[in-house]
Amino acid sequence: MGWENNVRKVIPYTPGEQPKEKVIKLNTNENPYPPARSVRDILDNFDISDMRKYPPPNADILVNALAERYKLKPEQIFVGVGSDDVISMAFMTFFNSDKPILFPDITYSFYDVWADVYRIPYETKPLTADFRINPDDYKGENGGIIFPNPNAPTGVLESVDMIEDIIKANPDSVVIIDEAYIDFGGKSCIDLINKYDNLLVVQTFSKSRSMAGMRIGFAVGNEKLIKYMNDVKFSINSYTMNILTQVCGAEALKDEKYFTDTVNKIIDTRERSKIRLKELGFEFPDSMSNFIFAKPNKISAEFIFEELKKRKIFVRYWNKPIIRDYLRITIGTDEEMDNLFEALGAILNG
Ligand code: PMP
Repeated sequence: MGWENNVRKVIPYTPGEQPKEKVIKLNTNENPYPPARSVRDILDNFDISDMRKYPPPNADILVNALAERYKLKPEQIFVGVGSDDVISMAFMTFFNSDKPILFPDITYSFYDVWADVYRIPYETKPLTADFRINPDDYKGENGGIIFPNPNAPTGVLESVDMIEDIIKANPDSVVIIDEAYIDFGGKSCIDLINKYDNLLVVQTFSKSRSMAGMRIGFAVGNEKLIKYMNDVKFSINSYTMNILTQVCGAEALKDEKYFTDTVNKIIDTRERSKIRLKELGFEFPDSMSNFIFAKPNKISAEFIFEELKKRKIFVRYWNKPIIRDYLRITIGTDEEMDNLFEALGAILNG
């Protein structure tokens, strides 16, 4: 089959399982609470004849709502179908150097997949033994930089000062900070976009805003960066975000109280979970996200992962160097976490 010589062959990203049966699902960092109530009302009142028309191609319903919420100009905002879409567009737009792009060795496992599919050379930089980023690793020649803050799957948060140091040292590269989990207690780098024209900050509605199923992500940056991203996007597919998603996303931004209350509930459950996990003998880097990256002290992480699954509790496990001793546990409701701790107690005590 000669045509196979000309196929773009890639090893795709493997998302966490989405089981059909009812399970306690702590494996993909979803939010255990529903989106703001008013999103329901928007759906009830949606005029289906609006589906006849193409949606606003620049998703301005959502862009304008985001501009208002984050006190930015609409020209500083790019929206996409989940932050995966946004980051993938950013890779294609900004990472076109012959020099390698840089990211940590332990990080979101989609970065190397995008680098491979777009033929972007890359180099990974090892985290320290306590899973921290060493800023000096990101000061040599490079074709771009990306890392999440807090990092995934570790949950470790770096300071805005440390990140600013990296951005400042790289005026000739675009630095992407993936803030998928920033709302769970971290400080965002968004304010730095007015100071540095090489900074792109990416966020998502999938975690803190309970809308993973709607697929909404956005990037904020200097107007020129955003214009370049839109040029690439409009060269591929203009109408990526459907009309319902745009209106639901804009609506979700209005209920600030619900957003803060939900995030605070998850933070409270996370802090309580840290205490319980310690009591059960787990070690973990301090997490500022909606998950905990925990290492059991007696039994292997893989065994616990399988045993939990038998009890219909799903967490995430990677059989990869360095991280194969850990489980990534998403913070669910208090009740779900209690079920988890009960199951862990039973597994650990044979
Ligand atoms: N960045 C990081 C670090 C993530 O963990 C995820 C979730 N898998 C994403 C980006 C993408 O999330 P989404 O496409 O749902 O916005």
